[in-house]
Amino acid sequence: MLGIEYAYNMNRRRRFKKVNTLVDKFFANTVKSDTCWNWIGWPAKRYGQITHEGKRYYAHRLSFEIHGGKIKKGFVVDHICGNCRCVNPSHLRQITQAQNMQNQRPQKMRSSAYRGVSFDKERMKWKAYVKLNGKIIYVGRFDKEIEASDMVKEKRKELLKFSTI
Ligand SMILES: [Zn+2]
Repeated sequence: MLGIEYAYNMNRRRRFKKVNTLVDKFFANTVKSDTCWNWIGWPAKRYGQITHEGKRYYAHRLSFEIHGGKIKKGFVVDHICGNCRCVNPSHLRQITQAQNMQNQRPQKMRSSAYRGVSFDKERMKWKAYVKLNGKIIYVGRFDKEIEASDMVKEKRKELLKFSTI
């Protein structure tokens, strides 16, 4: 992906003005807080994105570069906080693709189609958990997959009541 540097150079040629547009778009879609800076723009889920002059930028990558980071070749920008909607540069770091795969392993091994449910082979039970703001909240282990899924839904409802998001 062509980063901010490219946009910067391109826009410098076109009289500097449009650089602000991309950066402005970024901040217009960002709500800062003491912890995560949440992306409120498109899309509603997953990584934030900006379309600017026919090019698409990932918001977190953009943030990393706007705030002085330079993404090295073969590196990806990872969320330390685990919140993929977060664009706080202090929550971002660049890691290799291999490291990134390692981080994602628990999710990739998810053995259930239900959100927040995975099979615990050691105990031969379905494990239920809720992911909220990058934290994993353990709900319990159950004999039935559907039971685990129901408990996840309950727990999520309960937690969202106290969440400002
Ligand atoms: Zn964060």
